[in-house]
Amino acid sequence: MADDTLDLQECWNDAAPAIKAAVGDQDYSTWFSRLFFDSQDGNTLVLRTGTRLVLDSAQKNFSDIIISKVSEAAGMKIGLKMILKKSEAKQRQEEQKPAAQEAPSQVLPQKKEGRSRGIEMLNPSYTFESFVPGENSVFAYNACKAISENPGGNYNPCLIYGGVGLGKTHLLQAIGNHIIQNTKLRVQYITSENFVNEFINSVNSRTMQQFKNKYRRVHVLLIDDIQFLENKKETQAELFNTFNDLYDTGRQIVFTCDRPVSELKDISDRLRNRFERGLSIDIQPPEYETRLAILRHKCAEKNIVISDDILGYVAQNVQTNVRDLEACLIKLVAYGDLINKEITMEVAKELLKNSIKINIDRSTTSVSHIIKCVAEYYGISPYDIKGKSKKKSIATARQIAMYLARMQTDYSTTEIGLEFGGRDHTTIMYAIEKIKSQLLVSNSETQAIINQLMTILKAGNKQ
Ligand code: ADP
Ligand code: MG
Repeated sequence: MADDTLDLQECWNDAAPAIKAAVGDQDYSTWFSRLFFDSQDGNTLVLRTGTRLVLDSAQKNFSDIIISKVSEAAGMKIGLKMILKKSEAKQRQEEQKPAAQEAPSQVLPQKKEGRSRGIEMLNPSYTFESFVPGENSVFAYNACKAISENPGGNYNPCLIYGGVGLGKTHLLQAIGNHIIQNTKLRVQYITSENFVNEFINSVNSRTMQQFKNKYRRVHVLLIDDIQFLENKKETQAELFNTFNDLYDTGRQIVFTCDRPVSELKDISDRLRNRFERGLSIDIQPPEYETRLAILRHKCAEKNIVISDDILGYVAQNVQTNVRDLEACLIKLVAYGDLINKEITMEVAKELLKNSIKINIDRSTTSVSHIIKCVAEYYGISPYDIKGKSKKKSIATARQIAMYLARMQTDYSTTEIGLEFGGRDHTTIMYAIEKIKSQLLVSNSETQAIINQLMTILKAGNKQ
């Protein structure tokens, strides 16, 4: 089949399973059920959705995936455009009105050579104004703001780390957007995955010098998700050299990572040392108040009206991360859009049943299960944890278990105290504060232990 007869609708359909596998069932059903093939413009796939929020989120979160999977299905690099457009039925209803509904949005550029996969563009909506800092993220937020005011200053290099959907990319790009708007400095944002790809391509096509130049001429280098550099020896070496060149000339470098650097495997010591050299800050999942503030902010930003008790319900139940919060909001809005009426609490509960299940699972994680897992992890018995031994190793395990019990269940400190051999709630509170303060230390061992235990707990829940 010749290129000019490429049927992008078919490629889009063919790519569906791969996209689904890449984004996961939940995201797929939330977003992709509202994203439709619209048309084909040369080798650019045009997708439509009737909802502004779907459009924004799909552009933000899924452009790369769609381009890469549809390109794979097509056997060539395709372009992508997403537009806001009502379904045909809706359009017919509004037939008499001028066709002003269609607001073509940002066109993602089609890369000429399939050189770098993905689009290393800054998302203009990732700004400091659209970020709602909470206790969990205010330190990272302030540091990023300071960097954007004074790149190459006190916070260089800077590493922001934390779990998915907590705003790392948002903050990283907010730095870029701010600097581009206010200065003439050259900013380069790239995911480390694309950095690897570009590097490999430059080796293959003997354009290494170009690659080197590209990265050595920037004033601000923003590298997202450095965990992808694990195992990539040669790219690591190149990044190490780039780092030194930039750093020595006072250029700003900011990295993000989905875990503490100490937990990265197969990273050369010298590069690890560079990552850890400057300021290293973690972002934690937001607490209830921040979750609610984020939801309110997003509603105001997009002129969405949803009653406060429903927002409160979502904030109460979706405790994982901001991306999940956004996904719930979109479900509500999409539903409101479709049936054109206000959402009641019953409807909201019904709609969010599946999304919220995750957290119900979480709250049924029993304290005794946590105690058992922590005991196993430390090679002691649950009785030790509940008991009175003051041996340091046991006391530490006990405090970690108390902390996890508080974070992972809906039990109050009083109830948790009872589960831990009838201790007073102040003992539980003390333990929680102690662990929290240890978590504030960057790259702490406690953080690593908590992460491992969380994985064990989650695995246990699925059974
Ligand atoms: P990460 O890179 O840590 O996985 P992202 O930066 O991609 O997370 O954030 C996921 C989504 O949540 C994005 O749409 C982002 O705009 C939004 N988001 C995250 N944190 C906040 C926040 N504190 N305030 C507003 N939006 C946020
Ligand atoms: Mg990210």
